[in-house]
Amino acid sequence: MARHTERHRTHRIGWLRATVLGANDGLISTSSLILGVAAAGSDVRGILTAGVAGLFAGAASMAAGEYVSVSSQADTERADLDRERQELASDYAAEGRELAGIYIHRGLTPELARQVAAQLMAHDALGAHARDELGLAELLAARPVQAALSSAASFAAGAMFPLLVVTLAPPPVLTLAVSASSVCLLALLGALAARAGGARISVGAWRVTLWGALAMAATTGAGALFGATG
Ligand SMILES: [Zn+2]
Repeated sequence: MARHTERHRTHRIGWLRATVLGANDGLISTSSLILGVAAAGSDVRGILTAGVAGLFAGAASMAAGEYVSVSSQADTERADLDRERQELASDYAAEGRELAGIYIHRGLTPELARQVAAQLMAHDALGAHARDELGLAELLAARPVQAALSSAASFAAGAMFPLLVVTLAPPPVLTLAVSASSVCLLALLGALAARAGGARISVGAWRVTLWGALAMAATTGAGALFGATG
C-alpha cells in the first residue's frame, strides 16, 4: 500500500515540478520583457502589447519544444517495443532466459526466476519485457500532446501575473510593482517546487529568485540602453 501511494506521489511530484518550472519560465521571461520595454521608455499600451506577444510566443515555443522532445521519446519507446516484439517472435526461449536473468539479478533464485518469467510471459510477454527489461511503465509513457499543452498552459499562467500587475499598477510605479511582485511570486514558486521535490525550501526559493532577478536586471539594463540610444 505504501509503495502504491509512493509511486503515485512520485508521478504527481514530476507533474507538479514540470508545471512550476513552466510557470517560472513564463513569469521570468514576461516580467523581464515588460521591464525591458518599460526601461526603453514605452507607454503602458506598448508594454502590454509586448507582454501579450511575449506570452503567446513563449507558450507556443514551449509547446513546440515539449511536443518535439516528447515525440522523439515516444518514437524511441515505440522502436524499442517493435524490436522487442521481433525478438520475442524470433527467439522466445532466449527472451525467457533473458527475463529470468533479470529476476535473478534482482535477487530471485534461478528456479523461481524461471517460473516467474515463464508465467509473466505466458500472460503478457511484451508487457513483461517492456516493464522489466526496457523499464517502460504505462504510467510514464510519453504523451506529446498532453506534455505540450500542459507546458504551454503553465508558461501562460506564469506570464499572466506580470501582465495583470501592468494593468493594475499606476504607471509611475509600474517598474517597481512588476519587479517586486514577480520576485515575491518567484520565491513562492521556488519554495513550492523545492517542497514538492523534498529539497530545502530556502535553497529552492533563493535559487530561482536570484536568477529571476538577474534576468530582470539584465533586460531592464538592455531596455534602458536601447531607449537612451534609440
Ligand atoms: Zn527482451
